[in-house]
Amino acid sequence: MAEFRVGDEFKSFEELTHAIQALEKVQNINFSVRDSRSIAAAKGRITFVIKPALQYYELKYVCMKGEREYASKSTGARPDQSTFKAGCKAFFQVRASRDGQRLVVTKLNFEHNHPTNKDLFVHLPKQRHLDDGEADRSATILQNKPNK
Ligand SMILES: [Zn+2]
Repeated sequence: MAEFRVGDEFKSFEELTHAIQALEKVQNINFSVRDSRSIAAAKGRITFVIKPALQYYELKYVCMKGEREYASKSTGARPDQSTFKAGCKAFFQVRASRDGQRLVVTKLNFEHNHPTNKDLFVHLPKQRHLDDGEADRSATILQNKPNK
């Protein structure tokens, strides 16, 4: 399964992890855990038993480009362009089902505010092969494009 939808179910945390790896390949972007609540941490808050293979009651993953640059704020340095965070809001959330047998996708948003498609990167080098005249024309077209 390479795409996630709300309601998708996973029988174990391992299965979820594999699905995320496939998802990351498709979207050409990595997700990292932002929030998580283990089964142990959820005890007392929930009334049902979660099977150990799920490991978690709840997990929230965010796009790697969604993290704020706290580190740069403390130093006053400008964000390093190579690790620049785009403030992307893409995320997904999973939660244990009421029967405690599956992790279920409860919320997601895959609208990245930055390019994620590998094809975009593959096409970039072709720009360099334009002959000079063609490259100049493209530049002119871009400059003349009216602002919206
Ligand atoms: Zn993103």
